[in-house]
Amino acid sequence: MSSLPIYGLVGLPLAAVILVAYQAATGDVSMFNVIMCLVGVVLTEFGITFAYHRMVVHKAFEAHPVIKAITLAFGSMAFQGPVLHWASVHTKHHAHSDQEGDPHSPTIGGFIHAHFEWLLEMNSKELDTVVEKWGTRYKKDPMLVWFTSTFLFWALLSLIIPAVLGYMVGGWHGAWTGFLWGGLVRIFISSHVTWSVNSVCHFFGSRTYTTTDMSRNNPIVGLLALGEGWHNNHHAFPSSAVHGLAWWQIDPTGFMIRLFERIGLVSKVTRIPESLMQKRRIDSQHTALNVQTLALTEEEEVLEEA
Ligand SMILES: [Zn+2]
Ligand SMILES: [Zn+2]
Repeated sequence: MSSLPIYGLVGLPLAAVILVAYQAATGDVSMFNVIMCLVGVVLTEFGITFAYHRMVVHKAFEAHPVIKAITLAFGSMAFQGPVLHWASVHTKHHAHSDQEGDPHSPTIGGFIHAHFEWLLEMNSKELDTVVEKWGTRYKKDPMLVWFTSTFLFWALLSLIIPAVLGYMVGGWHGAWTGFLWGGLVRIFISSHVTWSVNSVCHFFGSRTYTTTDMSRNNPIVGLLALGEGWHNNHHAFPSSAVHGLAWWQIDPTGFMIRLFERIGLVSKVTRIPESLMQKRRIDSQHTALNVQTLALTEEEEVLEEA
């Protein structure tokens, strides 16, 4: 991966959004395309949150091989890179969160840097180094290696499917607008939603639990990113399958994990004991002095060792 495709990844979806906004202003917009775009956002975003993030990186649960494969395919279709690369970068983020070495920290590099500038700056050699250091345990899983080697196929398939569906509905014009909405506009929305977890959720929002970073719980990103916006909860308890730890913190990915667990498609779901949550809650007892000692929980140590 070099910088040029990354510039394309950031620039082309933006150009498509401007184009479809112009088309919509002239009356050229269909409900079919809008729905296809939103369904695409939810499915590929779910691939990232369920498979790439909670299942692969944090081992928050184990999924039936079929569910694992389907959701890894959705994750690959999100155009956020092969699973091995995504997982390695995210592992590094947890190990150095908001400290020197964090690939995307708004408190160190600034908001725009954390949102997507870091992607433009990271060349393929640096990415290889990150995978080399942080990706060892992922390379041991043959399915992750296979999805990494076939990434381009899934990524291209996610552009072809909406074009074909668009063609079936509206001929060649339908294929073009289907490609724009279900392909590029869908990538634009899901990319910015995921990037917001890295930028917004280390900058804007509330903190419920003690952590060594600036992670925040942000309700808007919480909802848009299918539960990933409860990011302070996540940094406090990285291995928790559910990120919305309070009853009112909507976490669609956590809901699906529990649903899959109930019907036997997911097992070994990690739940955080109430006593541990209580211990880490920010209150009058937790002064700035003891935050550091409380922050590195056993599970974070396990993550760093991995
Ligand atoms: Zn974070
Ligand atoms: Zn994480």
